Amino acid sequence: MNIDFEIFSPVHQIQNKLFDEQELKVFIKRDDLIHPIISGNKWRKLKYLLKQAQSEQKTHLVTFGGAYSNHLLAMAAAAAKFGFKSTGIVRGEEVNNDTLFLCRLHGMNLLFTDRESYRDKPALFNKHFADDEKAFFIDEGGASALAAQGCSELIDELTENYDHIFCACGTGTTAAGIITGITQHGLTTQFHGIPVLKNGEFLKNDINNFLNEPADYHLHTEYHFGGYGKATDELIHFIKQFVANTGMLIEPVYTGKMLYALYDLIAKNHFKPGSRILAIHTGGIWGLLGMKDKF
Ligand SMILES: *Cc1c(COP(=O)(O)O)cnc(C)c1O
Repeated sequence: MNIDFEIFSPVHQIQNKLFDEQELKVFIKRDDLIHPIISGNKWRKLKYLLKQAQSEQKTHLVTFGGAYSNHLLAMAAAAAKFGFKSTGIVRGEEVNNDTLFLCRLHGMNLLFTDRESYRDKPALFNKHFADDEKAFFIDEGGASALAAQGCSELIDELTENYDHIFCACGTGTTAAGIITGITQHGLTTQFHGIPVLKNGEFLKNDINNFLNEPADYHLHTEYHFGGYGKATDELIHFIKQFVANTGMLIEPVYTGKMLYALYDLIAKNHFKPGSRILAIHTGGIWGLLGMKDKF
């Protein structure tokens, strides 16, 4: 089976009085529309990992994540779509929630593990699957050079030029891929990453490790809103307004923080008049279901 499908990720312009005043054109690349479940950057990150598994005749994908992990869910659906068995090793004690329900529905076997053991993923993999020669290890979030390669293809799809590209960063793998794509195409586009974790400076190292050649880019580390999965009333208010004004769903863990940062930097006159800015919608909107009490 050919592990691929046609990507549908159109670029839409976002209208806003603030953008007009500053003569900016702001666009959003709808990676959230790539697939209803294998959303956004998660398909880009998985594609070459699944191809690698297939070429090694591995039929059982094993990966890791928290109980609300978009990566776990995307992998469950991708495994089902392409005929793999899948196991998700979940951090923490056994729970049930919307994400894990959808993982199970796609046939994923879930193993819960205490936080201490979770730290050493290769050890966990060996403990449970040493005898399963069909098992294939995929790191948490899919973090790997193959995942970055998949993300670099986002740049191949662009038919227009942009002065700036914005993207949310968790592990920084997607950022590294996009930066690689920009370099490979010889573009002058500036990349802006918004770490969603606290103390996001550490990402510079992780991103640089995935780059084949050094590159300049910006990390805006002050938009974490308290840390991973955390949100303030201000962020929730921004998201409600954005969704109501655009008809486009975003969530508070990734894309909400990234777009808040973009709007905030624009309000602070960060960009030259005439600039064209592209934000990447990396998907993940199923995560909203676990955050209803924040709204
Ligand atoms: C996983 C995820 C990210 C972060 O991707 P990294 O490659 O880990 O930086 C961004 N947005 C969404 C919606 C995600 O699910």
